[in-house]
Amino acid sequence: MRSWSIHVGRLFGVEVRLHLTFLILPLFVFWTEYNVHPANGPRDLALVGIILACVAAHEIGHMLIARRAGLIPKAVILLPLSGVTVFDESRAEKPECAAAVWKREVQIAIAGPLVNLVFALVAAGVILLAGAGAHLREWPFLQSNNLPRSLVWANLYIAGLNLLPAYPLDGGRILRAFFARSIDPAAATRRAVSISHALAMVLMVAGLFSNTWLTMVGIIIFSAAQLEERAVIFQSVLDNVRLEEVMLTDFATLSPADTLEDALDKAVHSLQDDFPVVRGSDMVGVISRQRILEALRMEGNGYVQAVMNKLFEVSARQESLASAFRKLTSHNLSIIPVVEDQRLVGIVTLQNLMHSMALLAESRKLRRDEQGS
Ligand SMILES: [Zn+2]
Repeated sequence: MRSWSIHVGRLFGVEVRLHLTFLILPLFVFWTEYNVHPANGPRDLALVGIILACVAAHEIGHMLIARRAGLIPKAVILLPLSGVTVFDESRAEKPECAAAVWKREVQIAIAGPLVNLVFALVAAGVILLAGAGAHLREWPFLQSNNLPRSLVWANLYIAGLNLLPAYPLDGGRILRAFFARSIDPAAATRRAVSISHALAMVLMVAGLFSNTWLTMVGIIIFSAAQLEERAVIFQSVLDNVRLEEVMLTDFATLSPADTLEDALDKAVHSLQDDFPVVRGSDMVGVISRQRILEALRMEGNGYVQAVMNKLFEVSARQESLASAFRKLTSHNLSIIPVVEDQRLVGIVTLQNLMHSMALLAESRKLRRDEQGS
């Protein structure tokens, strides 16, 4: 997600990123406009601006409804005629019953196109009242020669486009929510993504023989589906992988009676950044290499007992990565001891989770590609 988009700012506390395909838009507008009338840079740029504003308004619509439903938007990626809102899954609450999820998904999906429809109606109303002779129903609807008319139609196009049943466009999301009522969410997403890829192909080819905008729409749908699929693979790794599959079982521990100098000596010989502190077979605390160093620097040599963190959370080996991830991020921890019958059997650290999730996502994708071919 990050590699194909650039940070442009924040809106309502949510990071706004511009997908690189957005750069196609100005080039595309200049090119199509150049075919109909002599180049007019400022007006063409204004048309690009209008389209960007309509997409942003659309995404704000989704974001506000999502936030009301208790989801936390993390970033919005703006694509030329649509957008993708990335939610902070690690902080989301446990999913409720399927019917509630389905209803919420549909409400969030509808909100975007609805904003554009309202904007189009208001803009058309204002234009008609002003009697500016905007010729609202004259072809071509989107043209830099007539910016007020373009404002109305850009909103209508964006609403209409996003209602196509092409995941992750809003119409496709409604379709996925519908599939997810009978099959599991990851499979529902895959089914929606395949329909989306097929539709994108049809549009790209059809555009070559008719309107080039269609080709552009096809390209956008294709890249958006790709983005979303990656997020879903990641999420399914989070949900389906148990801690016992990724926890570190070969790790160093410290004793509360160790001196900080001894602890540092052990830390030097280990790749770990965080250490469980055990007395006999009891977990009594956790401490990081950083904390050991700080304590040594500030207070001189002392005992691990005095500086270790006694507040920590433990997990069971059957817990999912998603649950461990939530514990780590919500309490700002860097290590979770994995226990069985109150015995320490492994540790999970943020560093090791990030590493193994990337590996697992990659291996699943490879496996799926093999199955597909
Ligand atoms: Zn939308």
